[in-house]
Amino acid sequence: MSSGAPRGQGQVVRLSRGASLSDFADKINANPGSLVQEMFNLGEMVTATQSCSDETLLLIGEHLGFDVQIVSPEDEDRELLAQFNIDLDAEVAEDRLVSRAPVVTVMGHVDHGKTKLLDAIRKANVVAGEAGGITQHIGAYQVHVPHEGIDRAVTFIDTPGHEAFTAMRARGAQVTDIVVLVVAADDGVMPQTIEALNHAKAADVPIVVAVNKVDKPEANPDKVRQQLTEYGLVAEEYGGDTMFVNVAAKPGIGIEELLEAVLLTADASLELTAAIDGPAQGVAIEAHLDKGRGAVATVLVQKGTLRAGDSIVAGGAHGRVRAMLDENGNQVAEAGPARPVLVLGLTAVPGAGDTFLAAADDRTVRQIAEQRQARRRAASFANSRGRATLETLMEQLKEGEKTSLNLVLKGDVSGSVEALEDALFNLDIPEEVQLRIIHRGVGAITESDVMLASASSEAVTIIGFNVRAANKVREIADREGVEIRYYTVIYQAIEEIDAALKGLLKPEYEEVELGSAEIRDVFRSSKIGNISGCIVRSGIIRRNAKARLLRDGAVVADNLTISSLKRFKDDATEVREGFECGLTLAGFNNVQVGDTIETFEMREKPRA
Ligand code: GDP
Repeated sequence: MSSGAPRGQGQVVRLSRGASLSDFADKINANPGSLVQEMFNLGEMVTATQSCSDETLLLIGEHLGFDVQIVSPEDEDRELLAQFNIDLDAEVAEDRLVSRAPVVTVMGHVDHGKTKLLDAIRKANVVAGEAGGITQHIGAYQVHVPHEGIDRAVTFIDTPGHEAFTAMRARGAQVTDIVVLVVAADDGVMPQTIEALNHAKAADVPIVVAVNKVDKPEANPDKVRQQLTEYGLVAEEYGGDTMFVNVAAKPGIGIEELLEAVLLTADASLELTAAIDGPAQGVAIEAHLDKGRGAVATVLVQKGTLRAGDSIVAGGAHGRVRAMLDENGNQVAEAGPARPVLVLGLTAVPGAGDTFLAAADDRTVRQIAEQRQARRRAASFANSRGRATLETLMEQLKEGEKTSLNLVLKGDVSGSVEALEDALFNLDIPEEVQLRIIHRGVGAITESDVMLASASSEAVTIIGFNVRAANKVREIADREGVEIRYYTVIYQAIEEIDAALKGLLKPEYEEVELGSAEIRDVFRSSKIGNISGCIVRSGIIRRNAKARLLRDGAVVADNLTISSLKRFKDDATEVREGFECGLTLAGFNNVQVGDTIETFEMREKPRA
């Protein structure tokens, strides 16, 4: 090694996920070029400013004797907030804690009645004088239950299924306090029941089982209890500590008992308190772009109190709370812990599961948002970048370029864009192809998306998921030669992109042997060159097929073509094993009696 990069003695170097060699060089006072050289020696070609994968950073760190620590986005965010004197985990004096409502997610197998149950709970909460119950879907709602003489609130995440639950957990946001596991009594425990149960266990969230559809004659609620004991959920009546409640969501039976069980479980196993003072913190549950109102986000406050007029930042979006609405469409002035509210006034659409917080002023939230955006760009770039090894890079240099599929993803809500992106990165992408997402966003396809695509040096396809491009935008796209594709079903989008990825591969050919012939005689013709009189020894000899000539087992000439083929006096397209024929090899006359002619063709290899 003569590249002169400094050697560490196990010193710790903290690098954020997606850092470049240049960032690393900065930390150890090295010349970035020397790290590029070191990486090259390790068999990986990386430019100085290119964002690196975790493995690359750890590899070069170890090689140079540094203890590289990759800082997770969550820790980094804490550090970022610390710069603004914000401490998410600040201790709160005991007497400033208030009890808060439990937050519940409903999970279970498809068709077991999750949606119906959420509807039934919503309807059951018709506060006197307020007909119709909760009318708006904002992604979460709160109901009130009289419990042991006290009015208690319970918050429900209004998106059934475990996708929302896992999406939030994936971002480090633990939103759910209790899982209501819905199991249809006429169907019993099914695969997604187990999946949901495992998610809840992994998150260490207590479960209340709603045994649904007990109104059906074929319902067997005891069987559900029986089945679930196998998975460690033992009903109280069987001596366990899990509450099972028989319900029928459709006719609305057992809803009060279920809510009661949720509160009992919460009180027994959780300490649900939160600070009510101070700037609000929480999680964005759902967000989308609304035609009239701009970016709207449903946030769940987890700590502190959110007020209209507060400056907030949610993920990479920031703004000032212009108005807050509850699940009935009513304006609310403030929202405390466990309270979901629809917030208007953000400048962009945050992602589902993004944390939000209120801060002192507009400037602070803007700076936090900008720094987060910059970091995300770096991180997603690191994700999307395929590993470029020396070998593949050399090949690219030879072939001129690497094939890549570049996409701009636009969708109606942030959840769908994320789901699409996640699914894409989970595709089995062939090594020679790179999938790059150069931009993602919520809302219609705009002129700026098209311009971004056309400004790229490589072809970019814009994917619209449940969104369209206006006529004017479409015209620009046509003019600029930018392809736009629309989808309304995720799997269809994934399937087509997958196919495109495979189609992008340059076809690979393999040689398939057709047959061989032995030269028995050579006729010299001044007009058409030497004619070989052959007997076909195996397979077939076909006109226009590729051929090679073997003499004593060695290849004398390759890359020949059978230019003419005759059976006796007649032209033939092919001649089979055991038959005689006469043939010429285009432009090649060095044939001798005893030579063997092998013919083959190149066939495109099917991709796995
Ligand atoms: P999800 O896929 O879990 O959200 O299930 P849905 O809420 O869409 O319900 C699936 C089907 O079961 C629908 O046709 C519902 O009408 C029906 N269903 C849900 N709850 C009950 C119930 O308590 N009793 C009966 N008889 N049918 C129900």
